[in-house]
Amino acid sequence: MSGEDHHDHDHDHHAHSDHDHSDHDHSDVPSDVALRAKALFSLLADKGIVDPDGVDRIVEAYEHRVGPHLGAKVVARAWVDEGYRQRLLADGTAAVQELGIGGWRDGSRLVAVENRADVHNVVVCTLCSCYPLPLLGVPPVWYKSAPYRSRVVMDPRGVLAEFGTEVDPGVEVRVWDSNSEVRYLVLPERPAGTEGMSEEDLAALVGRNAMIGVERVTVAAGDVTA
Ligand code: FE
Repeated sequence: MSGEDHHDHDHDHHAHSDHDHSDHDHSDVPSDVALRAKALFSLLADKGIVDPDGVDRIVEAYEHRVGPHLGAKVVARAWVDEGYRQRLLADGTAAVQELGIGGWRDGSRLVAVENRADVHNVVVCTLCSCYPLPLLGVPPVWYKSAPYRSRVVMDPRGVLAEFGTEVDPGVEVRVWDSNSEVRYLVLPERPAGTEGMSEEDLAALVGRNAMIGVERVTVAAGDVTA
């Protein structure tokens, strides 16, 4: 266990593209795998090879300290700082490192894709659950579900509509398939009426789903500063 991206398994989606996955479902851990993991963990702990407290700390970090608030900081910075926005779109891994966000597994990198008036981006991992963990924490259950993974590719507008995100027919929808080498962050559009807001207040508007691309960032009328 590397401690980073530890829930992911290594795979290359391209190498597996001709592989039939219909006989098993990556979104659910089979109970025998869970039992084997438990048995292995107990054995390693008994032999003093792994420290159960250390493992707990890693789990705690991904459940609490690492979360969408980190991605939201990146988005807010890109909204207020044009130079940062350009660096983020040019090299996502380096740009988030500027804000102290690292932890990408060797060989994996972050690509930021920007929503514009004419383009809406949405992220999926069609084979399993590859996700930008250092930026967004643990993926939501629906992201790992077989229906989302298959349907967002076949009918992205329909899936987006189910999240309450209607995309105009004139707007191009781009679906990005994550893999072990590339993780994606959607840079949402900054909502109108937020020109006077601080970077910190802007970050508070940015939710996880907007950074996956299934929702837009919205602002309540009361939050808009004149
Ligand atoms: Fe995956």
